[in-house]
Amino acid sequence: MQSIRTTTLLILTYAVSIGDCHLVPSNVIAADPYVAVLGVAQDGGFPQIGCKKVCCQRAWGDPSSRRHVASLAIVDPVSNERWLIDCTPDFREQLHLLEQICPSKTGLGINGIFLTHAHMGHYTGLMHLGREVLGAKSVPVYAMPRMRAFLETNGPWDQLVSLQQIVVNKMVAGQEIQLNRRLKVVPFPVPHRDEYSETVGFRISGPSKSMIYIPDIDKWERWDVAIEDLLLDCDTALLDATFFDVNELPGRDMSEIPHPFVVETMNRFEVLPPIQKKKVRFIHLNHSNPLLDPESEASAAVVAKGYQLAVEGEKIEL
Ligand SMILES: [Zn+2]
Ligand SMILES: [Zn+2]
Repeated sequence: MQSIRTTTLLILTYAVSIGDCHLVPSNVIAADPYVAVLGVAQDGGFPQIGCKKVCCQRAWGDPSSRRHVASLAIVDPVSNERWLIDCTPDFREQLHLLEQICPSKTGLGINGIFLTHAHMGHYTGLMHLGREVLGAKSVPVYAMPRMRAFLETNGPWDQLVSLQQIVVNKMVAGQEIQLNRRLKVVPFPVPHRDEYSETVGFRISGPSKSMIYIPDIDKWERWDVAIEDLLLDCDTALLDATFFDVNELPGRDMSEIPHPFVVETMNRFEVLPPIQKKKVRFIHLNHSNPLLDPESEASAAVVAKGYQLAVEGEKIEL
């Protein structure tokens, strides 16, 4: 008991001593591959540009409560390889956060970037790889066919392609991509407002655990897959929690921006056993979502029902 306490204290001391409030103590064993959560907010981040409402006041005043746009890193600490899921407008800060979690040996140290879709929060960070900033060399980007065509035929992204700063590899729905001996990723299509590209979620598997990641989807009922079936077959599910409920954006037509409200997801999952609910971590939170405040009543209610909130900086074992 004493030694567990001492270890916990040491980990906490370590997290504090390197001076980054986003680093979260973890019990992932040193050699295990893991997913690091690099952001939990919706495309606009938290606080959101121009927001003077109560939701963002706290974050404007207190930088430690700010949150990056939703993105994940898949890390193999043995081979020192790192892949990203989505490349957000916060890429700069998120790469810095990743460096604190798992420093790269050389250069950018990104072995590939997997894109979910062409909404602004999910790919525009690629701009940092261009001539104006890094002038990267052949960073592998994995995209579905429409997403790939979008990058290849629209400026400024097409310049990243023609200058070979990125190399776009085509993904096929349901087809496994082996990252290395221990890790693989599978994209699966989900219904979403697909103006510029398809939208996919990802299944990420390691030697002992697997995860599904669905940051953006229309209502669960619009999908020909039952989310419960995916839940059964994974250890963690990071799910779209853009809005908590229907009252969140007064004056805005919520049918134009359909997402499963957190309250709807919890109602739907009410019949599931606790072990399934515990796999769910809510992510991709709009600035108006009360779950961005861990002290809010909404956060307490979600946790009381047996669900979890994704935490920026946390590691989840694979
Ligand atoms: Zn999004
Ligand atoms: Zn706000």
